[in-house]
Amino acid sequence: MIASALQSIRSQIPQDVEIVAVSKFHPVSSLMEAYQAGQRSFGESRPQEFAAKVPQMPSDVRWHFIGHLQTNKLKLVLPYVTMVQSVDSLHLLEAISRWGQANGRRTDVLLELHLGAEETKQGFSEEEILDIVTRPEASFPGVRIRGLMGMATNTDDESLIEADFARIQALFKQISGACLDQLSIGMSGDWPIALRHGATMVRIGTSIFGPREY
Ligand SMILES: *Cc1c(COP(=O)(O)O)cnc(C)c1O
Repeated sequence: MIASALQSIRSQIPQDVEIVAVSKFHPVSSLMEAYQAGQRSFGESRPQEFAAKVPQMPSDVRWHFIGHLQTNKLKLVLPYVTMVQSVDSLHLLEAISRWGQANGRRTDVLLELHLGAEETKQGFSEEEILDIVTRPEASFPGVRIRGLMGMATNTDDESLIEADFARIQALFKQISGACLDQLSIGMSGDWPIALRHGATMVRIGTSIFGPREY
């Protein structure tokens, strides 16, 4: 099931777009099925669950943290993570940078742009992101800002999703550069639209692993 779902998705997504398999709430046995089918990038959203899964999976897994991260949970996440995609406040960015300095490491991060009319207020505004990326590089010595992440409005109305992705694509075009080259948009329900808006990474859970049981 998982292997064939992955194969089908891969056949529809260009090779140079990274597929992050969002495995939150799914058991390690399911992650291993995906791993055995060649999947190496996985996305998790809860620090405790993430920390429990890491030692149970092969060491060449690339872990993407995609959920809300509180600064008192950094120790559970940062030692093992390839990228934190969900940096949604200056406070968090600075804390990750300080941890990196203290531990001799630069963590790749994406800045999350607040999109949509959603109840959730998670994410930066365009202005805040422009402010951060135009600061001198030395401002955040323990991180490497690699790009933007966004979640479109949760709706069946494709025009609203298009509008959200157009907004983040425009900002990405404005700020992208040599190192700042990643645009993470698109989930199970909207990745085809995200591809049309320049996604370099898609985060797909349900279409690979099936529904989550909360
Ligand atoms: C859960 C989650 C996804 C995956 O959602 P699906 O609809 O299951 O593909 C992608 N991105 C983020 C930030 C998530 O929390």
